[in-house]
Amino acid sequence: MESKGLLVVLSGPSGVGKGTVRQALFEKDHDREQFFYSVSATTRQAREGEVHGKDYFFVSKEEFEQMIENEELLEYAQYVDNYYGTPLAYIEEMTLKGKDVFLEIEVQGALQVKRRMPDGVFIFLAPPNMGELESRIVNRGTDAPEVIEQRMTKAREELQLMTQYDYVVENDDVDAAVERIQTIIKAEHLKVERFMDDLVGNYLQ
Ligand code: 5GP
Repeated sequence: MESKGLLVVLSGPSGVGKGTVRQALFEKDHDREQFFYSVSATTRQAREGEVHGKDYFFVSKEEFEQMIENEELLEYAQYVDNYYGTPLAYIEEMTLKGKDVFLEIEVQGALQVKRRMPDGVFIFLAPPNMGELESRIVNRGTDAPEVIEQRMTKAREELQLMTQYDYVVENDDVDAAVERIQTIIKAEHLKVERFMDDLVGNYLQ
């Protein structure tokens, strides 16, 4: 029996460590023929070491707005003055081939995906507590005190949206969080509804 490809969405508040967990997940042993990362488009500048087409598709504001107009994005959001969005074609192509596609996006975008693709697997990455989240945001060292306060206010709002997800994974330890995510993906593949066509053909009259 073969189950369909999964759309797996990892999201959570700013500063929780989504990027770190995603990188660790893809560095760990995983089936490279089965599990793929969806590269987002963004209008923000590339950071040192980031590669176009691998980390992001770096595009101009005009190009991004054209993508919105052409309905090429599954979702998009504005975050700290830049656009971020998920190209739709890649996801359609891969899931049709039975592959799993993994998105790492902020909360507003994740909830848009949930409305359009409710079959997806929605995972909320949560901080162990608010104090820990604040120290992570402060330790980035890039933000002025009022910006830190704005980010904390936003994070508190985003934490309220946790109940709309299927799973919550605490990021107390990166390796432990990765293992929990892998367990979720394995279990999701075994859900009855993902085998329905096979079950009807083979077992059910
Ligand atoms: P960064 O600029 O640090 O790479 O990303 C900023 C935020 O944008 C992170 O929370 C990241 O998860 C989110 N993000 C990255 N790609 C996308 C996307 O395609 N759509 C949405 N909605 N958020 C994204």
